[in-house]
Amino acid sequence: MGATALRTHRVGTLTRDQLGQEVRLGGWVHRRRDLGGLVFVDLRDRAGLVQLSFNPEWTSPEVMERAAGLGAETVVLVTGIVALRPEPSRDQRLVSREVEVHATALEIVGPAQTPAIPVARKEKEELPAEELRLRHRVLDLRRPELQRNLILRHKVMQATRRYFDENDFLEIETPILTRPTPEGARDYLVPSRVHPGEFFALPQSPQLYKQLLMVAGLDRYFQIARCFRDEDLRADRQPEFTQIDIEASFVGVEDMLNFGEGLVQRIWSEAGHAFTYSQRMRHADALEKYGTDKPDLRFGLEIFDATTAFLDSDFAVTRKAIESGGRVRGIRVPQGAGLSRKQVDEIETAAKALGAAGLLRLKKSGPGIEGPAAKYLSAGGVTQLGMTEGDLYLLVAGPDHVSGPALDRVRQEVALKLNLIPKGENRFVWIIDFPLFERDHSTGALSSVNHPFTAPHPDDVSFLESAPERVRALAYDMVLNGTELGGGSLRIADPSLQRRVFSLLGIPEQQAEQRFGFLLEGLRAGAPPHGGFAFGLDRIVMLLAQADSLRDVIAFPKTTAQRALFEGAPSQVDAADLKALHLEAKSDR
Ligand code: ASP
Repeated sequence: MGATALRTHRVGTLTRDQLGQEVRLGGWVHRRRDLGGLVFVDLRDRAGLVQLSFNPEWTSPEVMERAAGLGAETVVLVTGIVALRPEPSRDQRLVSREVEVHATALEIVGPAQTPAIPVARKEKEELPAEELRLRHRVLDLRRPELQRNLILRHKVMQATRRYFDENDFLEIETPILTRPTPEGARDYLVPSRVHPGEFFALPQSPQLYKQLLMVAGLDRYFQIARCFRDEDLRADRQPEFTQIDIEASFVGVEDMLNFGEGLVQRIWSEAGHAFTYSQRMRHADALEKYGTDKPDLRFGLEIFDATTAFLDSDFAVTRKAIESGGRVRGIRVPQGAGLSRKQVDEIETAAKALGAAGLLRLKKSGPGIEGPAAKYLSAGGVTQLGMTEGDLYLLVAGPDHVSGPALDRVRQEVALKLNLIPKGENRFVWIIDFPLFERDHSTGALSSVNHPFTAPHPDDVSFLESAPERVRALAYDMVLNGTELGGGSLRIADPSLQRRVFSLLGIPEQQAEQRFGFLLEGLRAGAPPHGGFAFGLDRIVMLLAQADSLRDVIAFPKTTAQRALFEGAPSQVDAADLKALHLEAKSDR
């Protein structure tokens, strides 16, 4: 594989099968060792490494001399004979650790300066600082780990394309220079030179276009789409990222869930990973049992409601919470005794960081119950709790929007500390029946949980105006081990329903026409029922590669400070270029 005019094999593919053959190779000098008149070079390419052996027995003095002068990362063409190594290599990265190449000819085709960061590292040698690596990304990308990640990314993309092609989806590209799109982040704007004072926006997603493709009758669309969202700095977010984006016509929710499930099953199994699909879970149930709409189902520790046990208690913390409409909820840790006091303190700190006032601990040992809240419990309350020997209950009192996130965190902390997460297990679940709207706690304004084009549940349309928060959406999110992979919805296909939703969102008719007119016009042209979803490709590859950050699975990523260090972007531009764009820079620098 990989034979060309200049080489017979890829370096890393040589095995016993080529023993005795003359091969021509091209690659990078990974490492060179001089041993009393002999020179050994590890040569590297995308496929791996092989040892070149330069020895006066088979190498001419002229080639010996050239080999002795080879610097790291020089690109060479080598001719030689494949032979058995005197001793198999211990380097696990070699495809065959048994062969080497007895070099007879050597040509330097790509001289290299001393590399700014090392590509070859000793075992367990730490990586240079990430900033430095991103600045010298080309060298960093030569590292076998990063090459492996990009190869995996390619495989995931190909598996995706095959899956959708087999299911009759068309791959259609949508514009990058477009109008502002509705995903709720800030747009990146591109000034138009030809139309003074006017701007294109980069798409936050192909949402409107994919809906219009359905209106246009293309029936099933997919795209591995680049999206752009100008969000504030957050760890592990990229301002430009890639989505696996789909839309289909004449579908119900079940169809979309099946496509999503089929896709992840295909990707995970082609990447050689175990796949367990859990039943769909209603959004309200996820919040009740796991405190979050991104539940990690690899372990139990489900949340239960302990409010009734505290109803007749005059413990100030729980009484206050219950009186102001909250509840006492928590988890039962069966071998809770396995957690030290210090560990529980750490869990409490984590819960408090998410707004919980504290963590109530109750422990059943012997005839009684221990813990600060225990003495406030009535005999009836104790019975209600139903504790068995060794149980540790960790409870949070307060409104659900506080206890939910806190207990989600408590579950995760306990699972980690008690080693409850089975290795290699992947638990997927579709969360369904999301609410259509959420209300801002301070302003009282409604906003879309998904986006404004998501269809309300048909059973709930009648109380859109009277009880908007009770309206369920035909929306769904795919969650894996506590991480959201993506989501989508069925869309509103009826322009008058779309107008009602816009008006509830406080988008006046005129503004709706101005912002989304081209979509509304499309809907008025006869729209089929349709729906879709988008999955984050970068995150999927990161999880499969077990990489530490999205930056490790993107060839040329941005830093968390939103800079491209390698290319040096963003950058200032010439005043003349700005003038041509009818702009003026007002920078303080
Ligand atoms: N456009 C949505 C997003 O980018 C996904 C979808 O609804 O299909 O999150």
